[in-house]
Amino acid sequence: MTRKRKSLWIIPHQDDEVLSMGMAIIYNSYYGNENFILQVSDGSGSSVLDILNGLTVCTCTVCPIGQVYGTHDPISENYLDGSLDKSSFSLARDREQEEALTIMGAQLYKRLKYPDGSVDLYVNRITNEIITWINNNGGDIAIEQGLINIGVTSYKDASSDHQACANAVTNVKNIYKSKGLRLNTHYYLSPSIWNQYGELVFNKNCVETLKNALNTYKLYEPISGRYEIGWHSVQSLFEKVYNTPISKYHIN
Ligand SMILES: [Zn+2]
Ligand SMILES: [Zn+2]
Repeated sequence: MTRKRKSLWIIPHQDDEVLSMGMAIIYNSYYGNENFILQVSDGSGSSVLDILNGLTVCTCTVCPIGQVYGTHDPISENYLDGSLDKSSFSLARDREQEEALTIMGAQLYKRLKYPDGSVDLYVNRITNEIITWINNNGGDIAIEQGLINIGVTSYKDASSDHQACANAVTNVKNIYKSKGLRLNTHYYLSPSIWNQYGELVFNKNCVETLKNALNTYKLYEPISGRYEIGWHSVQSLFEKVYNTPISKYHIN
């Protein structure tokens, strides 16, 4: 009998799990492995907050307001959270992510809620969080047996939060290396740099699930607290993954 492999995915912002690693996480679930999500930032730094509060015009081509290049209005649109502050905006992003995780067969391990854009200040804490998770999931023996995998965004990505998460994983890898253990790590490229070298992950049986997960970030239903934040934020990346449902990674 083979034992289940466990993966911990380090996610800087709500939506990176579908954009950078969606195919990989779903592929993992498809083979019966367990996926745990460490959500690092609170996702509160997005310019979408101003769009939803009607401070800047919505140019998205998906939501009913954006389709006519209009301006959002929390009052007339009956936002569940009213006019959004950073914390209610962050929770609204969590709602999109939670639905995506359910579809992907991944479970939330923990939300660290570090301020969006400042993740580089918390690299040591993230390093410790990852080690704690490993220790609670079989520790050194599980690593020796190849049962543990760590997935993270790439240090080649433009976002400093993405780089910081990648650096924490490299720290963890090096700590185990100094003990003579080889930790499986995969760094996933943002779709915006898929033109760079990377190993491909693709399984046709996982495509529909990935599309469904991407669509959880597309739902605009303000009365239930769903504001299509993912697609408002990076519609072109969502469309790219939707049309090319893959993940790309490098190992070192
Ligand atoms: Zn991100
Ligand atoms: Zn809009």
